[in-house]
Formats: sequence, structure tokens, C-alpha cells
Amino acid sequence: MSDSAVRGWCPGARRPMRSGDGLILRLRITGGRLSSDRARAIADLAANCGNGEIDLGRRGGLQLRGLRDDSLAATLAELAVLGLVDADAGAEAIRNVVASPLSDRDDTAAGDAFALARALEGALVADEALRVLPAKFGFSVDDGGRFGLAEVPADVRLRLTREVVLISLDGDAGAATVPAGEAVSASLRLARAFLNLAPRLDPPPRRMAALVARLGADAVFAAADLAPVEIPPPSRDAAPLIGAFATHVGVGLPFGRLTADQLRLLADLAAIDLRLTPFRAVLLPGAPAAILPRLAEAGFIIRPADPLRFVAACPGAPACASAAIETRDLARRLAVLNPAAGDVWLHVSGCDKGCASSAAHAVTLVGRDGALDLVLEGRPRDAPRLAGLNPEAVEAVLRSGMLIR
Ligand code: SF4
Repeated sequence: MSDSAVRGWCPGARRPMRSGDGLILRLRITGGRLSSDRARAIADLAANCGNGEIDLGRRGGLQLRGLRDDSLAATLAELAVLGLVDADAGAEAIRNVVASPLSDRDDTAAGDAFALARALEGALVADEALRVLPAKFGFSVDDGGRFGLAEVPADVRLRLTREVVLISLDGDAGAATVPAGEAVSASLRLARAFLNLAPRLDPPPRRMAALVARLGADAVFAAADLAPVEIPPPSRDAAPLIGAFATHVGVGLPFGRLTADQLRLLADLAAIDLRLTPFRAVLLPGAPAAILPRLAEAGFIIRPADPLRFVAACPGAPACASAAIETRDLARRLAVLNPAAGDVWLHVSGCDKGCASSAAHAVTLVGRDGALDLVLEGRPRDAPRLAGLNPEAVEAVLRSGMLIR
């Protein structure tokens, strides 16, 4: 089975997924906050029961890779002791909440996103009727400060202000305003509104943006007993994450991947705890700048302008059984061709499912029958401009500079 062979189905600790390198076990970490002790324990599990590789997912969760079937029961038992596993697969699936990572350190934050995310997770788990939400249906809690989540996809978005919480829907510019104490219940009402409205359409939409596109946001808000107003869009000028700052030391993970040894090092160097982000970066709040050289030596990205930050690549072959090509060595090789990109410009995908990115990029390379198709300004399933290339041909085309913005 590939990394995404079952559409609309998400792996978890209670529902591991088989991939080319063994079982994948995904952990949802509330608010992305991980204590050093838990991080060390996860690193030990990854090394002893898996292949020692861990992915930081696009929702800020961790995926242990290469787990052996015969070590699964012991891994789950250990995770239960650590409090990192839910009672059942339904509970872990519904806890799809991303939060701003540094509410407690950022003086521009309007409130505590972590506390709200934790309360929302608790309410989602407690409401059994919501277990039928589509697997990828998710929420975000933005603290309104410099570490915002404007770029992180979410079906229902909460944004804190000093006075109220703004609740908006994916695919719509409006928002309902509610007092902070009502934000959780209003979020649940919107989730129920989705469940009530979506089945009336044929075919039923699987995500909020699709429902909004067909019924309009006002209908969804009305079904949740909320009245939207026009709001200014959230700032997309997020504060830099990578490097040393008054709030934190941040490192980037090439392709969102780290090893058990790297996770142990982060745990050892953390001053408070680890903050996992949906931006392929881990932050250490309160840590001193002096640790950056050790982190660089261990293979972390410590420069915001590192070219590896501007390329995306899925695990590819041989880790994923669906992959038609090796992906990450190729992406590393090509990354230097556009060092001033400033944003992800290249996506290398082992097949057309595009697990590493759902966005359109300047150049997307897609594995097909052992060769590469090249898509411009699009996604893996878009029509290629060039097809059947080998890596050398791709490099020659990109080096010519003709295709890069
Ligand atoms: S995009 Fe990559 S990881 Fe996802 S299924 Fe295809 S080859 Fe596997």
C-alpha cells in the first residue's frame, strides 16, 4: 500500500498504514507541544521498533516510519504510557487541530491558541456524532500574532483577537465573531452543519471549501446559528521561524524528515519544550542562539535562505510502493538551481498523488513509468509541459533557466 493508497483515510497510532518501508504510525501532538521526555521516548521507539526515521507532517504531527509488525503492540503500549495514543482510532482521527506554535512567547499574540486547541480537541473527541466527519476535515487555531496560520489549510479556522474569536470557513472571506468562551461550541456547530448539509448534495462534498463553493458560506453559517461579517484577511507576513530569535531557536527539516538521533538532540537542547509546526520546522522556545552550530552539524537547516527550504519531495522510491522514481536525492540536486526562490518553487512527487504538497508550484516533477513528467505552474495531476524525461534531462532544462520564474 502506498502512502496515500486509501483515499480519504488517514493513518494514526490506532490505525497504522503499510508503506514501502514498513508500517507508518502517526501521532497527533496537541498544539504541537512536546516535552523533552516524550520526545526522547518517541526517538527511542522510532529507533528500536522502526527504521529510525520520523516525518513531521503538514499538520504538525509526527510519523514513525518502518515499524515492524511484530513491534506494533509494544509500541502502542509504550505510547499509551506516554499519553500519546487515543482510546480508539475515531478519537485520534477527529483531533485534527493545528495551533500557532508560540502563543506563550509572542507578545503580538492575542491569546492562548494552545489552550483553545486543547479545549477544541477535547470537545471533538467527546462528541461521538462527529466521528463521521471526513478523515481530513480539520481545524486551525491562529493566535492572531506573528506566528499565524494563514498558509495552513483548515476547514474551520479560528483566529483570536483581543476582543473576540473570528471563525471562518475554508473557501470564504467572511467570519462569525464569537466570545472566546463560545469558540469551541461554535466550531462544533459548524462541523455539524457540514454533516447536515453535505449529504443533501450529489455528490456530497468531502471538504468545507467544496460545500461553501456549492451552497455559499452564508448557508453554512446559518445552519450553525452564526452570522458572518466581512473581515480583513489575516496577515501573510509571518515572522521568520528558522534561526535564533528572542522567542525561540528554530530549525528546518529537509523534506520534513528527521532521525531518531536528531529528535533526541532537540530534546537535549530544548530549554522548555519542542514546538512542532506545520512548516517543516521545529522551534525550541527560550533556547540560546549558541546551540545553532550543533544543530547545523546534526543536519538541520538553520538558515532561512537554505535552498532545501524551497523544494518539496515525498518519500518516493523505495520508501513508497507507489513511487515510480527516487525523489529526494533529485530534489536536493535541483534545489540549488533556484537559490533565491523565497518560496517553494519545486515539487518532486513519486507519483501523481502529490503527498508532499497540495499547492501549485512553478515546477512539479511527477514520476511515471520510471521517468519524469514536468508540469509548470501546477500540481502533479495537471497536464505536463514535458514528459518521459530522465533526471539529467530535467536538470539540463532547469539549468537553461527558461522554466524558472
Ligand atoms: S506522492 Fe509519493 S508518497 Fe505519495 S503515494 Fe505517490 S509516491 Fe507515494
